[in-house]
Amino acid sequence: MKKTLKGTVGFANLPNQVHRRSVKRGFQFVVMVVGESGMGKSTMVNTLFNSALIPEKEEVPPSVESPKTVAIQNISADIQESGVKLRLTVVDTPGFGDFINNEESWKPILMDIESRFDSYLAQETRANRTKFVDSRVHACIYFIAPTGHSLRSIDIEFMKRLHTKVNLIPVIAKSDTLTEDEVATFKVRVLADIAQHNIQIFRPLSDSFDDPETVAENREIHDKIPFAIVGSNRDVTTVDGRTVRGRKYPWGVIEVDNEEHNDFVKLRQMLIRTHMEELKDHTNLVLYENYRTAKLLSLGKIQDNAVFREYNPVLQMEEERRLHEVKMQKMEAEMHAVFQQKVQEKEQKLKQSEEELYARHKEMKVTLEKQRLDLDEKRRRLEVSLRPTTPDRKVKKGFGFK
Ligand code: GDP
Repeated sequence: MKKTLKGTVGFANLPNQVHRRSVKRGFQFVVMVVGESGMGKSTMVNTLFNSALIPEKEEVPPSVESPKTVAIQNISADIQESGVKLRLTVVDTPGFGDFINNEESWKPILMDIESRFDSYLAQETRANRTKFVDSRVHACIYFIAPTGHSLRSIDIEFMKRLHTKVNLIPVIAKSDTLTEDEVATFKVRVLADIAQHNIQIFRPLSDSFDDPETVAENREIHDKIPFAIVGSNRDVTTVDGRTVRGRKYPWGVIEVDNEEHNDFVKLRQMLIRTHMEELKDHTNLVLYENYRTAKLLSLGKIQDNAVFREYNPVLQMEEERRLHEVKMQKMEAEMHAVFQQKVQEKEQKLKQSEEELYARHKEMKVTLEKQRLDLDEKRRRLEVSLRPTTPDRKVKKGFGFK
């Protein structure tokens, strides 16, 4: 329901309040750069923030011992512009793609990004959250070698492994080494590879709340992706006598800050001027949130195993109760079995005595029958013996045996 106010209440000033508070607090931004040595990563970071944050490789003597794995280096600096403070952290990844076997070059970088999420998650669940340190990476600039062909397997592998964990911003490094046409064709191929492998890259998108100016601005940035960039912190003089940041060639000057010459201006605009907050929001609300959900779900599974139970008093009590119940059930079953056995024994005994009685009864019956037969025999013999031996001898009436 939309309500129209009758007069001014004052909350139209909210954006100013937020702005004042943010300016006072300062801003924080963590950007990671990934690409082989010599791709121009340090030069680009220094060009972006117009200061010597990372020493460029030509200024550093090459180390005698080459590293065996990808290193993760954090370079932090507080920079200020028109009273606005920015705490900038650049995460450099020297060694990426520099070995004979680069199959797992992405691994230490993924681990680093995830460990930052883990540390944020641990702080969120802490009782005291006053000293909160947010080191999550808000953007990862991935430097694609200016081959002019298509993405290499190392590029695809890296982006596939990392695209759900960080805002990926692919750039075509040292684009001054390609012609304008080569850059255009290369961009089409890179985008086709990205689409084919379902890789999500950060793209500025407009919504219905955006004014036409912002929509047009977003479209212009969007159409330049992947940004073909040129980096340089050196001032050079153009043919018409201007002093610019650029690279000088026998045939002329490539100007870093000239949109006709390369996409550096659009990259800087997106990263610093227009989409820094969106990059941070997307990191916090989408990338971190997804990681957090998956992590907590996996912890839920762990809760089912014995190791977790050992440290959880509630689960431990439940387990004890369950064990007690099992013990009681076992005892009951044993008692029932004993009772059954006793009844069976009694029944058996009764049956046995019944059989004995029956046998005795039968035996007695046989004995009595035998006695009866004996007596019958005796009577018969007696009758025979009492019969008169002579024919004239009369037997007295009413006397004698049956
Ligand atoms: P990293 O190893 O990726 O940090 O590369 P660096 O920034 O140290 O640059 C390596 C070399 O490439 C240096 O000599 C730079 O001057 C040079 N370089 C950096 N950016 C560009 C670029 O845009 N075009 C060209 N042609 N060279 C560049």
